[in-house]
Order: sequence, then structure tokens, then C-alpha cells
Amino acid sequence: MILLEGITKKYVDPKSKTQETVALRGIDLQIKQGEIFGMIGHSGAGKSTLLRMINLLERPTTGKVIINDVDLTSLSHKELQDKRRKIGMIFQHFNLLSSATVEQNIAFPLKLKKHSMDEINRKVEELVKLVGLEDHRTKYPSQLSGGQKQRVGIARALAADPDILLCDEATSALDPQTTNSILQLLLEINRTLGITIVLITHEMQVIRSICDRVAVINSGEIVELGNVVDVFLHP
Ligand code: ADP
Ligand code: ADP
Repeated sequence: MILLEGITKKYVDPKSKTQETVALRGIDLQIKQGEIFGMIGHSGAGKSTLLRMINLLERPTTGKVIINDVDLTSLSHKELQDKRRKIGMIFQHFNLLSSATVEQNIAFPLKLKKHSMDEINRKVEELVKLVGLEDHRTKYPSQLSGGQKQRVGIARALAADPDILLCDEATSALDPQTTNSILQLLLEINRTLGITIVLITHEMQVIRSICDRVAVINSGEIVELGNVVDVFLHP
């Protein structure tokens, strides 16, 4: 379970040093093991900052981030690195290594962790199949479509067998049909592997098609929270 308690985040403007942007104003949120949790809101609402709290890519100004009973804000750098491996992340612009093949991109997180070559090859093969890139394993990102690039991103994020997958506008750069196929893949990963998925989006369709629960974020606050049907589909 992911527990965010009393999270605030202030960014200080690097030039004036006194001017502050308050990105999050007192967020309390529980995300359950195994659910697909969506956060929706306008640009600048604080979604990206909130998502990055979960793996402490951004540190809260105040508040706690508790995952499976461990307060991440209290950990040493090394302990945090360890916990972070169990939290995968995918991005709007994929963030792939352009000079590495599909297989090498997927293997990258495994190579950082001193697995044997046999283990790495076995894991990469399993992931290539899971995301349906069997015919593209030796291609470079520039030779792939957007949807295929995101499949590589997903496979790489799953390489370390994470418990949680964070998705930062993962389908925003894709056309509607490709968006749909990526959402179906995320749903399959959630249902078959039991990985908790937290996603942010500005597109209602993404929330409607795969999320179990949703939070509406506005000006750094949660203004609505509940099951997708209750929040959006009932009059
Ligand atoms: P969203 O993801 O909903 O578009 P963000 O979390 O990116 O919103 O941003 C929330 C607010 O915090 C915005 O006003 C944004 O300009 C500001 N912000 C985000 N990141 C930084 C940063 N690194 N430094 C200063 N301000 C930031
Ligand atoms: P995206 O929509 O691709 O997530 P953003 O513009 O939201 O891109 O943010 C890109 C990066 O810039 C993020 O790391 C974010 O923290 C940072 N950022 C966003 N807003 C600001 C800001 N007002 N000042 C400084 N950095 C910012």
C-alpha cells in the first residue's frame, strides 16, 4: 500500500530565491495494493510532482511517503535506491537510450544489478514476449513507432520485477488507437502480474478505460476522489 500523508511541495524560484511556487498543498492519499489509480487534472495542477513523490524523484517539503509500512523520507540514500528498484516508471517521451537496441534498453536496469548473462537473457526474452516485440528485438528506438517505443519503456520498467508502476502521461504522445493498445497492455500487466499502477493524465478517456479509482487534482489539492464510476459516470 502507498500512503501519502500531509504532503506539501514548494519550489523555490532559482533566480529570485524568494519567490515560491506551491505545487502541492496538503495531500493525504491511500493507494491500494493491486489497483490502477489515476490522477487527472489540468497542466500545472501538480500531477507530475505528486507522482514523483511516490519514488521520491521529488522530495516533499513536508509530509511522509509510506510504502508497505516503510517511510521513504526517513531512509538513507542507499536504502532508498534499493526501494526505488521496486518502483518502475514510464514516461510520455519514453526516455529510451537511442544508441541501444530494444533488447539492450530492456536489459539496462538488469546490468546495473550484477545479474548473470544467462539470467539477463532469460528475463529480456520473457519481457520482449510480454510486450509483443519479438520481431523488433535488435532495432534501435529511431526504427520504432511511438507505441513500440512505449512497449520498450514498459518492458524496461518491469525488468526489476517492481511492485508499483508509475506512468507519467504514458499515452499522451500517442494516437488514439495506439493509446488504446498501450492501455490494454497496462491493464493486462496489472491483472496478471498484480502490479499496482499509478498513472497521471489529462485525458478522461485514459481514466475511463482502465482506472479503478481516480483523484482529480486542482491547484495542488485533491478536489475529488473515488471509484471512476462514482466520480465520472454517474450524473
Ligand atoms: P502537472 O503535472 O499537473 O502539469 P506539475 O506537477 O508539473 O503539474 O507542476 C505543478 C506546479 O509546480 C506548476 O506550477 C509548475 O510550474 C511547478 N513546478 C513543477 N516542477 C517545478 C520545478 N522543478 N521548479 C519550479 N516549479 C516547478
Ligand atoms: P512534461 O509535461 O513532459 O512532464 P513538464 O514541463 O511538466 O514536462 O516538466 C518538465 C521538467 O521541468 C520536470 O522535471 C519538471 O519538474 C520541470 N519543471 C516544470 N515546471 C517547471 C518550472 N516552472 N520551473 C522549473 N522547472 C519546471
